[in-house]
Amino acid sequence: MRRFDYVRAGGVDEAIATRGQGTDTVYLAGGTTLLDLMKLDVMRPVRLVDIHKLPLDRIEWLPDGRVRIGAMVTNTELARDEHVSIAYPVLSQALLSGASTQLRNKATTGGNIMQRVRCGYFRDGVSPCNKREPGSGCAAIGGLNRNVHAVLGGSDQCIAAHPSDMCVAMAAIGATVQVQGPNGTREIDFLDFHLLPGSMPWREHALEANELITHVTLDVPLARSRSAYLKLRDRASYQFALASSAAILVLDGNTIRDARVALGGVGTKPWRSKDAEAVLRGKPATVAVFREAAAVAMQGAKSYGQNGFKIALGQQAVVRNLTTLVA
Ligand code: SF4
Repeated sequence: MRRFDYVRAGGVDEAIATRGQGTDTVYLAGGTTLLDLMKLDVMRPVRLVDIHKLPLDRIEWLPDGRVRIGAMVTNTELARDEHVSIAYPVLSQALLSGASTQLRNKATTGGNIMQRVRCGYFRDGVSPCNKREPGSGCAAIGGLNRNVHAVLGGSDQCIAAHPSDMCVAMAAIGATVQVQGPNGTREIDFLDFHLLPGSMPWREHALEANELITHVTLDVPLARSRSAYLKLRDRASYQFALASSAAILVLDGNTIRDARVALGGVGTKPWRSKDAEAVLRGKPATVAVFREAAAVAMQGAKSYGQNGFKIALGQQAVVRNLTTLVA
């Protein structure tokens, strides 16, 4: 492991000032991604600004019914919060399906949003990888791409799937990311936060170098809604999704009044499908309608070889999750 400096920030302003503009200083929150990548020599920061003691560890219900989550709230605290688990079951279930208990106890809300991809070529430190070393190529295209590579949103530069479960649930719920920088605060729509790889896969999010996520605010839950998260994977725990579905339904009898559909494991970012939601609205809650919506959700999906099975698996995840929700 390389030498690095360590600074513990006492406040948000101090953290931002210490972090500065450069790319060789990075924030350290739970460290569940960063420390792994430093040990693998994939990330080589010269200075860590420890932010895990910042006063951003509260879950607050706002007067307008939204929920504001501090960036340092751990995945366990958020999943187990009594009100969150009732109002947003899809979020609790997504969080509890991720990683392991030990990791969820350390991982933070802000860190989960910022986590890096699990592509083996990115993490091995030597293979061609445009994300790690711009312009070097993408070993996953034409290589081993069964598990953690996307069929939606990829480019000829990168096809790594976004690894988060929590973010898929947040994409379905609707949320806003609050960030702070040296010039003040701003808000980013959650669906605009993560970027498609396009021709610059090393740019993963809309955050500027010296900005810090301070909160995530969830939209008001849909009235009389039910929601669930379904994760399909090779083993039952401590495994990334091959395909996952976050779904929210509002039913009036057997008619779907409103719906939210998002997918994980299949996209290069948390994949919300508003087209699939449009298919569901106003239709009877039947398997045939769910299949139609699932096919629309996976429209434009592209196989890169080994991961081609995800095109069908993603649809099955959506259909099974919706079917279970109405049962
Ligand atoms: Fe790198 Fe992305 Fe290709 Fe993986 S899929 S090797 S992360 S460029």
